[in-house]
Amino acid sequence: MDTACIDLEGVLIPELWPMLANATGIEELSLTTREVPNYRALMERRLHLLRQSNLRLVDVQHHIRAADLEPGAVEFLQALEQRCEVLLVSDAFSQMVEPITTRIRVRNTLLCHTFSIDGDGFIDRCLYAARQGKEDVVKQLQSKGRKVLAVGDAFNDLQMLRSADRGYLFRPSATTRLAAPNLPVIENYSQIEEAWGHSEPVKWQ
Ligand SMILES: [Mg+2]
Repeated sequence: MDTACIDLEGVLIPELWPMLANATGIEELSLTTREVPNYRALMERRLHLLRQSNLRLVDVQHHIRAADLEPGAVEFLQALEQRCEVLLVSDAFSQMVEPITTRIRVRNTLLCHTFSIDGDGFIDRCLYAARQGKEDVVKQLQSKGRKVLAVGDAFNDLQMLRSADRGYLFRPSATTRLAAPNLPVIENYSQIEEAWGHSEPVKWQ
């Protein structure tokens, strides 16, 4: 493998919006694409709720700084970086994940969306990365002849995992698992490291 594309939330760090809902007491912030399937509509709603509750980016970042990494996440990334280039491929927003990713980033690159912030420090709108889905990142790498390993936990990862030379579902929910019965499911980081040791190429589809 030349490059590893690793999802952030649910793999290396916890789901941030439910955590934020918990920390702020704004229950509706915990809605996910399960309840509101259109991600952009969901994000509009979340930004509206933050503004309504007078929460600025700095307040959001304060809560996120308190989040714990998944145990073993840093060691896992370090081990991976010994072997290949590591890209963190996320549908989160850079200013939101940075308070936590600065603790896990070693040399790896973060590919995600960005917020536009207004003059008063409120999150104004979402600036989406120029890609259809995470699978675009994989396909672009493969078009340059690179072999790609991908790890993710949810629906927004499935196409990326299917496109990769090796794709792993990491601790998926029962619904996600049912949606992708052919993808291998793993429960911990060491299973990825073990699989890495097998020299023969595997196409998991
Ligand atoms: Mg995820």
